Amino acid sequence: MDCIFCKITSGEIPATFVAESEHAVAFNDINPTQPVHVLVVPRVHYTDVAHLAVSDTEALADLIQLGVKVAEMTSTGSFRLQFNTGAEAGQTVFHAHGHITSRTPRS
Ligand code: AMP
Ligand code: ZN
Repeated sequence: MDCIFCKITSGEIPATFVAESEHAVAFNDINPTQPVHVLVVPRVHYTDVAHLAVSDTEALADLIQLGVKVAEMTSTGSFRLQFNTGAEAGQTVFHAHGHITSRTPRS
């Protein structure tokens, strides 16, 4: 499958990893829109968060917990966790992922 996030989770192409967990990895977005912009991505391929949610609730919870951990590591604690779901909502990579963004990085 030609999926860029599968290639990143498998190590085939590089990314700047910031944390990982049993079911998910976190790496910096290549095109950040906020001072903190990290993606949390399940190791297993699902098209979007809706498919992840109905397929593996343990992996979903793990992904969200990793996102919270990343937000605590990288920001003052005020952050967003956003899942663009579907092309019309702005999803461009069709491997489930959450965006952790914050305007207030931890100094
Ligand atoms: P979305 O629009 O919600 O599908 O988000 C996809 C995100 O993936 C965008 O914010 C991109 O900047 C980011 N992205 C695409 N390719 C890479 C990559 N190779 N490494 C890190 N982030 C990427
Ligand atoms: Zn994938």
